[in-house]
Amino acid sequence: MALYWIVGIITSLLFFASVVAHELAHSLVGRVNGIPVKSITLFIFGGIAQMTKEAAHPGAEFKMAAAGPACSLVIAGLFGLLWFFAQGVVEPLAAMAFWLAYVNVILAAFNLIPGFPLDGGRVFRSLLWRVTGNYRRSTQVATRVGQGIGYLFVLGGILIIFLRPFGLDWFSGLWLAFIGWFLESAASASYRQLRWRDALQGVSASQVMTTDCPLVPPNITVSQLVQGYILTSGRQCFLVADEGRLEGALMLANIKSIPQQDWGVTQVREIMTPIDKLKMAHPDQDAPSILEEMNENEINQMPVVSEGRVVGLITRDGLIKLLSIRSRLGA
Ligand SMILES: [Zn+2]
Repeated sequence: MALYWIVGIITSLLFFASVVAHELAHSLVGRVNGIPVKSITLFIFGGIAQMTKEAAHPGAEFKMAAAGPACSLVIAGLFGLLWFFAQGVVEPLAAMAFWLAYVNVILAAFNLIPGFPLDGGRVFRSLLWRVTGNYRRSTQVATRVGQGIGYLFVLGGILIIFLRPFGLDWFSGLWLAFIGWFLESAASASYRQLRWRDALQGVSASQVMTTDCPLVPPNITVSQLVQGYILTSGRQCFLVADEGRLEGALMLANIKSIPQQDWGVTQVREIMTPIDKLKMAHPDQDAPSILEEMNENEINQMPVVSEGRVVGLITRDGLIKLLSIRSRLGA
């Protein structure tokens, strides 16, 4: 019985190590090819590596995307060898090696599904990109294929739940539908990101920031702010500073979050977004990456800082408005 548990624990650890090795292969090959991989979201079937920068040419993307599944297949091969030599000699070891070889093959196969943003989708995009020379169009096609495959999985799952072919149970169907839903939403998110990048291409922080966010002291009340600044000037953003030192930022939304009867007794300091919750942008930073950062961190405003001085404020509303105007004009 103890042996059973030990083998189980070792197997789980080795499986986890296999997934990590897969992701490390992406990171290492990406780094060598100039694509830094920022974070890895571990998912049941491996991870989805988030890149801060897209590949500069199809060859780099191909190598980075293919590295993960290639690594999994090599690991599968090694466990296959171990199984081959252990079978009939050390049976628990052989069983463990067989299972690990099997899951690594599954890991490689699942990630090679040609739907973006899975590895296979990235490989597919890099091939399209090499052939057509059009990065944008290739991403569009690869994400569409990703969505299509997601829908097929969901449909397949539903069919399994109702028809139970080949002795499959409803749980397998549910599982397949869930994976399909995950693929579809990941592909849609990538597509949305592409459209943002497109629409906000070439726009920099200094172009979209508002420069008329007045400085207000932190100790005035919300009533004083509303009476003294908002109702008279119509301004919607404020930088809260004490003797020139930035303490936070304030938007209309912050004010709306507290009931009107409390305005007289609440200080601006209490409702502002404090500086340690604020992320700073650089004047040259490009707008798509700012919007992504805002979404990732769930923040609505970013002060633009140049040489230690706040030169403006970028609001999420402002970016979204610009995005919608630019995409409507097809610019
Ligand atoms: Zn991968």
